[in-house]
Amino acid sequence: MDAYRIFALRYAGPEESSQALLLWNRDWDQRVERAYYFWCLLGPEGPVLVDCGVSPERAAQRNLKSYVNPVELLRGLGVEPHEVRHLVLSHLHWDHCGGAALFPQAQVHLGRAEWEFWSTSPLVRRSIFTILHDPGDQAALVAAQEEGRLHLHAGDAPLAPGLELIAAPGHSPGLMALKAVTENGEAVVASDCGHTFANFREDWPSIFIFDLPAWLLSMKRLRNLVSSPELLFPGHDIAMSQDYPEVAPGVTRLV
Ligand SMILES: [Zn+2]
Repeated sequence: MDAYRIFALRYAGPEESSQALLLWNRDWDQRVERAYYFWCLLGPEGPVLVDCGVSPERAAQRNLKSYVNPVELLRGLGVEPHEVRHLVLSHLHWDHCGGAALFPQAQVHLGRAEWEFWSTSPLVRRSIFTILHDPGDQAALVAAQEEGRLHLHAGDAPLAPGLELIAAPGHSPGLMALKAVTENGEAVVASDCGHTFANFREDWPSIFIFDLPAWLLSMKRLRNLVSSPELLFPGHDIAMSQDYPEVAPGVTRLV
C-alpha cells in the first residue's frame, strides 16, 4: 500500500502562555510557546486535510498573532483549495474549523457527537463554551450538508485505503483523529486529543477537557494505534515547527 506523507502547516503563532494551560494544573510559573496548526496528508487519495485553520476574518476577531491564510500555506505544498479531496474536522473549536469555507469542494468528515453537541445543546451558549466555538462557523458546515458533502461518523470509519478516522472523544464530545499509513509505520494525527507531545508522553491532560474518563481511554487507545510513540502528533506543539524539516514557509514534514 502506498504511504502518506504528513505535513504540519502553522497558520498562527507562536504565542506564549503558562505551562498550566497545556499541562493541567502543573508548572504555573513556567512559560511555554504554542502555535496553531492544520495538517495536510499527501498520498494516493490526493490532498487530505485534518482541520483547516481559520479565515482572515476570524483571525482578526480572535487577534491571532502571525496569522497566515491557510490557502497560502497550502500553496507551499503545491496544493490549490479545489484539489483538497477530504477535510477531516477533528472537532469544532474555532481554531480547528474556522476555515472550512476556504475549501468549498472538499468532502467534510466530522464526529456525529461533535456535530450534535454544537448544533443542538443549549450548553454551548454558556460562556465556557462560547470561548471555544463560534456559531458562525457552522454556516460553512450547513452549506456542506446541503450540498451532500458533510459526512458524520458515529465511530471509527475507513476514509480511504491507508487512512482511517479514529473516534477519540474527551477534549471535545466527538473528537476524530486520523490514522495514516506512512513509510515509518502507522501514524496518528490526533489534533487536540493532546495539545503537546508531553500530554501523550506523560498521560496528562491539557486544561480543556470535556470528559476526563473518555479522554483517558482515547489517550490510551491512540498510543496503542501508532507504530512508535513519535508518530502520534498533537494539536499545538511548537516542536512541530522546530524539530522537523521545513519544506516551505510555515510548513514542516512530520513523516
Ligand atoms: Zn486547538
